[in-house]
Amino acid sequence: MDLSRRVNTDPRRALPSVHRLIEAMASGHPEIPRWAASEAAQRLVAAARLTLDARPPGSDGSEGIPSGENAWLVSVATLAEELSGPRPQRVINATGIVLHTNLGRAPMAPGAAEAAARAAGGYTDLELDLQRGERGNRLEGAALRLTLLTGAEAGYVCNNNAAALVLALNTLAKGRQVVVSRGELVEIGGSFRIPEIMERAGVELVEVGSTNRTHLRDYAQAIGPETAMLLKVHRSNFEIRGFVKDVGLGELVELGAAHGIPVVEDLGSGTLVDLGRHGFPAEAFVPGRIAEGPDLVCFSGDKLLGGPQAGIVVGRSAPVAALGENPLARALRLDKMSLAALDWTLGAYLEGRAEAEVPVLKQILLSPDAHEARTRAFAHQILEGGVTRDLKVDLEVIRDRVPVGGGSLPGFELDSWAIALRGGDGAETLAARLRAGRAPVLARVRDGSLRIDLRAVDEAETPRLLAGIYDALH
Ligand SMILES: *Cc1c(COP(=O)(O)O)cnc(C)c1O
Repeated sequence: MDLSRRVNTDPRRALPSVHRLIEAMASGHPEIPRWAASEAAQRLVAAARLTLDARPPGSDGSEGIPSGENAWLVSVATLAEELSGPRPQRVINATGIVLHTNLGRAPMAPGAAEAAARAAGGYTDLELDLQRGERGNRLEGAALRLTLLTGAEAGYVCNNNAAALVLALNTLAKGRQVVVSRGELVEIGGSFRIPEIMERAGVELVEVGSTNRTHLRDYAQAIGPETAMLLKVHRSNFEIRGFVKDVGLGELVELGAAHGIPVVEDLGSGTLVDLGRHGFPAEAFVPGRIAEGPDLVCFSGDKLLGGPQAGIVVGRSAPVAALGENPLARALRLDKMSLAALDWTLGAYLEGRAEAEVPVLKQILLSPDAHEARTRAFAHQILEGGVTRDLKVDLEVIRDRVPVGGGSLPGFELDSWAIALRGGDGAETLAARLRAGRAPVLARVRDGSLRIDLRAVDEAETPRLLAGIYDALH
């Protein structure tokens, strides 16, 4: 097939026709969906035309434009494969960061993923009471499990923790004032900022204290006839050190009780096992927060809990019931797949299986000795497998420190082990090649070396990781 027309010297006239590229793709690459081939051909021809339009007078200006039929087909096929590939696609997390927001935060336990798939692939009793044949409450199962696990009177779940906070603010304080410390007016990321969220939720923010110090009297002085809530927000992704004063949740609860004002905590990342016994900061333990007596505590399902994306609220019966009655609740509700996965995950906690089965817990509680042994064995595999043979690449097994990530435990790092690779074309180049590979691998670059940490790499993924490293080095 001749894709070019050579009647005119204007190079734009030599561009292939989109239609003929699509036909050539259909015969040359029948495995690539036609919609993707069509989109890719249109985009590439349009881009080539723009390049040629913008070329300086007198210059050829065709650099970067495929020349000849084969080059065009290769370009179209490459882009079409990228467009038609699954999104999100699976990647290997070799960063050691267990809750990596850009990598989708918590991986679910296999049991939770199966529960989600079962709920997705058929009909369920989502909103039906099978005994009585009446309409049922979709959250009943999750609410029961949450109260048993946290000691709270009631529980509620919605789409994510951001939604939970919006719902709590709008339900309890719409058109009225919410008091927050200036040290807690945080940005969580993805433009989620407490002051802006409060405005959208229809409440008036009353800031108290200063960035580094807020006293109980600051809250007390701010309370007036329009005060509807005292809100505490966890500084999930940063720390303030030095001359610092915060008001504890318990003190805030006492103040709220004295004035009949609800106290709400946005905990961000909550756990249902006491990580304090493993040397972790204790503040994330939800039952510990409930014991302080707040009206509501909200936290994410896919941070330290290790479940699906969800916003979980636990607390007193009346405000929890009010959340469900807010018309916004429908707009923020959790879907059946996530609900099934959450139900499974909460069941694992109730039955004492969480530390053995929830990936996030397994990964953060990993014993340093086991991690070192696995890392050394993998380093051995790399060397024995000849992955670095004849290459100017140094490999070393090192001690490392990694954050937990995902807006959890700021300032806290886990002792870890990593394989450090140095040399070749440099750590950044190697990291980019690993990312772009057939089984994309995410690793960390630090102090000029590429760090591969197996903490968050599933056993079943190690052969693909090895192949990825081989590809990136060759
Ligand atoms: C992460 C976080 C949120 C947002 O939670 P999502 O589940 O991502 O919506 C809100 N508040 C705090 C304090 C957080 O750490």
